[in-house]
This record gives sequence, structure tokens and C-alpha cells, in this order.
Amino acid sequence: MRIIEKVKEMQVWSDAARRAGRRIAFVPTMGTLHDGHLALVRAAKKLGERVVVSIFVNPAQFAPDEDFAAYPRDFARDRALLENENVDALFYPSAAEVYPDGCQTHIDVERLAPLLEGEFRPGHFRGVATVVAKLFNMVRPHTAVFGEKDYQQLQVIRRMTKDLNFDIEIVGHPTVRDADGLALSSRNAYLSARERQAAPSLFRALKRAEALVAQGERCAGRVAAAARAEIEGEPLAEIEYLRICDPETLAEIPRIEHAALLALAVRVGPARLIDNAMLKT
Ligand code: AMP
Repeated sequence: MRIIEKVKEMQVWSDAARRAGRRIAFVPTMGTLHDGHLALVRAAKKLGERVVVSIFVNPAQFAPDEDFAAYPRDFARDRALLENENVDALFYPSAAEVYPDGCQTHIDVERLAPLLEGEFRPGHFRGVATVVAKLFNMVRPHTAVFGEKDYQQLQVIRRMTKDLNFDIEIVGHPTVRDADGLALSSRNAYLSARERQAAPSLFRALKRAEALVAQGERCAGRVAAAARAEIEGEPLAEIEYLRICDPETLAEIPRIEHAALLALAVRVGPARLIDNAMLKT
């Protein structure tokens, strides 16, 4: 596995692979890899002959009061995991390499970014969209894989890719969960043993909502209230938002006529956990 720290070297590597007729599949990450990330890597292997994984904890997507400094990092472990998956190139740039002399150009996905996560993390998707666009120009992939766990992020990236005419196929991958339903996340490392026991209440809320919709309930308010009650039964969990939205526009909807997205963010101790489910009628 080639480890690449410089943008120029990444572009040269990528251009050589393209000239050799290889399809490049890309998985951007912030490291501290878990089985969710590795599932994306395995999906990428099926999509292209060359797989590039990036590890970059992007300062621009963290607000000053968020966990940028505390975000878990373990390069040696990540590198070994990716070697084991036979990844072709690990792109591991420094912040100075990605943002050499500041950055005056940003990408605002105007209508999707301010909703849901964006309401509670203003500027977050501006940081995400900007760094992903930059990574696309550095890695020059044919296709890129993103997790549905971060559903809004996936939609923001799809929109940005379309709006800016990136010739890149965006592929979503289903959420990978622990046995008790908790979505794998690098931030689960923040949970104490007791908090870890409280965390599957998010998944139970999603399941409760799915069951109600399967029974024929179409009122979004009633479905949301039942999901909310599931989490409120857990004293260590504090809901930040829980909404039922149109899967495309992410606007809240009063009735579940077709597919609807249930998206939630919940604080459990020091961890802010997000999850979602597609409710199908
Ligand atoms: P992160 O390192 O958290 O920025 O995540 C990198 C990529 O992995 C993103 O596309 C995430 O959506 C995806 N991802 C994170 N956790 C999971 C999971 N549990 N299942 C599937 N994809 C995930």
C-alpha cells in the first residue's frame, strides 16, 4: 500500500492509474477506522481496480466548541487495517497540505446544508462540501463511496457533485451496526460502559418508527412521538432533534405517503450520536 502525504504525489499517482485504464474508487474518512469504514472499502474494491482511502480530520467541519482536538486518531492501527484490506493508496495529508495558505473559496450547498445537522452545527456542511471537493480534485476518482449513516452528508455530496459537474459516481453504502443495533462510529469511543448501554435506544427508536409505518400509521407526528418516547425512556440520552423528512429535500413532512427519512441526533454523555432510517410505506 502506497502512503501518500502530498497533493502533487496523489495527483501523479492517480493520473498514472487513469492512463493505465484503471478505475479509481475512493473512500474519504477521518480515520479511527471501524467495520463501517471497512465495509465501504470492500464496496470500493468492487467498484474499481484501484482503491484510495483518505484519512484527514478536517478542521473546517468542526465548530470552535466541537471535538476537533479530542477526535480519536490512531494512524498506525488504521494503516495496518487498510494494508490488510489490500488498499492501493492511503492518502494522509496534513492540514497545511490541504489548506496551504488558508482557503478563501468555499462550497455552500444552499438548501440542504442548513437543515437537520446544519441547524445544530452551522457551517459543518460548508466544511464537508469544501474538503470533499478538494479531495476529489486531489484523488481524481471515478467513483466515491459514502455511508448512509451520514445520510444528509451523502445528499449534500450528491448535490455538490452534480452542481459542480464532477464526473464522479457517488455510491451510498448501508449503515453497519453492532449486534445491539448501535451504528458504528469513531465517536462511540467517547461512551462509558453505562453510556454504551444507553446508546442502542437510538436504534430502538428507528425500529419502533418502522414498525408503526409497517402497521399503516401515516401521521409523521405520531410516528415521531413514538420514536421520541423510546429515547426519552433512557435517562442518559438527550434528543437534539428527531425529524421525519422528505428523503430528497430533507424538509419536514406531516404525512408519510411514500418513503420518508427519520433522522435523529442524540447526546449520550460526551458523545453526539446521529442515526437515521428510511421509512417505507
Ligand atoms: P468518518 O470517518 O466518520 O468521516 O466517516 C467516513 C465515511 O464512513 C463516511 O462516508 C461515513 O458515512 C462512513 N461511515 C461511518 N460510520 C459508518 C457506519 N457505521 N456504516 C457505514 N458507513 C459509515
